[in-house]
Amino acid sequence: MAFTKKTVRDIDVDGKRIIMRVDFNVPLKDGVVTDDTRIRAAIPTIQYLKEHNAGIILMSHLGRPKGDGFEAALSLRPAAEKLAELTGYDVKFIESTYDDAAAEACAAVKPGDILVLENVRFLKAEKKNDPEVAKKFASYADIFVLDAFGTAHRAQGSVVGAAEFIPAVAGFLLEKEVDTLTGIFAEPERPFVAVVGGSKVSSKIGVLDHLIDSADTLIIGGGMAYTFFLAKGYSVGTSLQEPDWIERAGEMLKKAEEKGCKILLPVDNIVADHFGEDAVGEVVASDAIPDDRMGMDIGPETEKLYCDAVKAAKTVFWNGPMGVFEMEQFSHGTKAVAEAIADSDCTSIIGGGDSVAAINKFGLADKMSWISTGGGASMELVEGKALPGVEALLDA
Ligand code: ADP
Ligand code: MG
Repeated sequence: MAFTKKTVRDIDVDGKRIIMRVDFNVPLKDGVVTDDTRIRAAIPTIQYLKEHNAGIILMSHLGRPKGDGFEAALSLRPAAEKLAELTGYDVKFIESTYDDAAAEACAAVKPGDILVLENVRFLKAEKKNDPEVAKKFASYADIFVLDAFGTAHRAQGSVVGAAEFIPAVAGFLLEKEVDTLTGIFAEPERPFVAVVGGSKVSSKIGVLDHLIDSADTLIIGGGMAYTFFLAKGYSVGTSLQEPDWIERAGEMLKKAEEKGCKILLPVDNIVADHFGEDAVGEVVASDAIPDDRMGMDIGPETEKLYCDAVKAAKTVFWNGPMGVFEMEQFSHGTKAVAEAIADSDCTSIIGGGDSVAAINKFGLADKMSWISTGGGASMELVEGKALPGVEALLDA
């Protein structure tokens, strides 16, 4: 599906001052950025704007500040320094966002300059999308650009607000993310296989529901599989289970059948007698889980079944690990499926915080077609929801 909003390509940025919301919400340790993925992801748009003679003001949140002023540990300064290091550009930073000093620094931004403002969440009003906050950001520049895909699902001042007062367009990251994650529902190359795992059915029901509409095969793994087992009448021992969601799980199985979406559930499992680093796994069939055992990973038969399904796919979307991959002895299923996706020529799209962590842990990130930079935002797109940040932009 084509992106339906204007991007930086569709507007004249030459000589203009741009205020761009990016997602520089990066992990820090002792004031140093430990993972610069999100900063790197913003560089193509920054580069484009600089090359097209725009003055660039960047703003972002970082972490969860209290919202009543500066907190040294959550300053964006290390992110600004990292951006300078990665690009070789001269990047200025100002330790304020909303005061006169910030306004003056923005007014001094010339074509080609890059200025990073301090953490937008040092003020509570930002998260409430207070119009005063939005007006303030709009007053700093001629054009608003949204490239913060990771927060595009939040109706907050720095994300949606400025769009009411100045022209607002998308950056390249936002465009690519939305295009990719909505594209799997519009015109996926088939067979389209969706792999959904992780811990809970309750947190993924919207994702499952929407994927069933589009996927040819839906593979289910992880802790959520056990609530599906209950819906099928199997007993699950002490496995993770959500009794309140058995009925919904049953409805999903029925809907999939009606829609012609094939659902694959584990046929065997690695179970253990407790949840812990020292737990020892054993293989049991899905209809024979002992009362005192919990499912920790998919079993070897299931692994083969899932890998074969993935290998036959032209498009794969994956969200949620197949087992408790954080523990070595229960990471095999997740790793095997990840490797099968990596080895295949299919278009592979990965979303979700823990799934991305798993892919990185296995060193397979380079072999995937697209790894989403947004956790919550990517899930909302896959649920079929519109993102407020995107909605606020000018139509193409
Ligand atoms: P994502 O962040 O990729 O969307 P989730 O947050 O839904 O994924 O789920 C990830 C978590 O699910 C991991 O911490 C993993 O240990 C857990 N998990 C996977 N399989 C099981 C299982 N069988 N029992 C308990 N937890 C599980
Ligand atoms: Mg998670």
